[in-house]
Amino acid sequence: MEIVILVAVIAVVLLGAISGLVVSGRKKKATTAEKSATPQATTAPPAEPHVGEEAEGAPEAPRRTIEEVGLPAAEAPAAPTELETPEPSAGRLVRLRSRLSRSQNSLGKGLLTLLSREHLDDATWEEIEDTLLTADVGVTPTQELVERLRERVRVLGTRTPDELRDLLREELLTLVGPDMDRTVHTETQGAVDRPGVVLVVGVNGTGKTTTTGKLARVLVADGKSVVLGAADTFRAAAADQLETWGKRVGARTVRGPEEGDPASVAFDAVKEGTEAGADVVLIDTAGRLHTKTGLMDELGKVKRVVEKQGPVDEVLLVLDATTGQNGLVQARVFAEVVNITGIVLTKLDGTAKGGIVVAVQRELGVPVKLIGLGEGADDLAPFEPGAFVDALIGGE
Ligand code: GDP
Repeated sequence: MEIVILVAVIAVVLLGAISGLVVSGRKKKATTAEKSATPQATTAPPAEPHVGEEAEGAPEAPRRTIEEVGLPAAEAPAAPTELETPEPSAGRLVRLRSRLSRSQNSLGKGLLTLLSREHLDDATWEEIEDTLLTADVGVTPTQELVERLRERVRVLGTRTPDELRDLLREELLTLVGPDMDRTVHTETQGAVDRPGVVLVVGVNGTGKTTTTGKLARVLVADGKSVVLGAADTFRAAAADQLETWGKRVGARTVRGPEEGDPASVAFDAVKEGTEAGADVVLIDTAGRLHTKTGLMDELGKVKRVVEKQGPVDEVLLVLDATTGQNGLVQARVFAEVVNITGIVLTKLDGTAKGGIVVAVQRELGVPVKLIGLGEGADDLAPFEPGAFVDALIGGE
């Protein structure tokens, strides 16, 4: 009996000790939770719940909103960026002409110097031809131009510098194609209530994402609302880069998971653009040229999927002017995959090979619509043949 009483007493003492421990443990947790709710903790990431907390029966704290919890600095939504006012697109080529002429001296000035020689013999004509070829004008257009120049110089007889300048200007202008339609089609055809859709394609590194961002600025400057689609899901930084461009002018960027399906991002961008009543959706695509088949599959799919919601209004091919013949090879491959409706030549500020404008238009039968003349946000200009040729020859 005594033994039974002793065991009972021990059991009661033990139970008391255990419950005391549990209570003090809970108190500690409660203090920690209180601490984590203090203001200085709001900038830190929310404390990770520990395995077993719930099993111990701790009352679940009411879920806090993201704002209440406070996100870690890296994830916190950035303070609203002050919106920039991009420059109007009209007159940009004139403003940027000096960049073009700085790099184009070897073409226009070189031609004028050669044409001013007293005796235009075969050797001089060959030099003229070489100058054009070096500037990437291409073989056939070069021959055509030299032939026309020879004929006109012969008819002209004596040549004053002004006459030569006018003559060269006219011929270069003919070569560049003054009558091609260079409108970037950002509007839907017909009275359909959906945004204009522009696909931007090209090999990575050509300036595709930058151009998409700059184009968004041009459109915003022209009073349009823009939604961006970050369908270059293969280059890790591309979506962030595009989003940054968009934020600067208040354009929303639709993006998907890294290495996700570019076609679905493109689809979502058009869908969101339509729902938001945007004027234009610009879609930046991935341009990995590892295999032509891969590119065909990917780009072809992007276009097909977007077209489920309506036609694509413009397909802009971005080419780096400094890559010369290589750019032409790229152009050919892309033209096989999608129906290119316009060309953007980037980095024309850094090359003396402006003749690529002529060569690529001939190659694809598609006009150059925009040119990139620098890394600045507003260094993208509508292509104007007259101003371009003037810049080549240093005229008015
Ligand atoms: P993507 O891979 O084709 O999307 O290429 P990015 O848009 O990232 O551009 C590649 C690089 O080219 C960047 O450093 C751009 O600033 C630069 N770039 C783009 N357009 C121009 C241009 O017209 N002139 C110059 N000088 N650099 C440019």
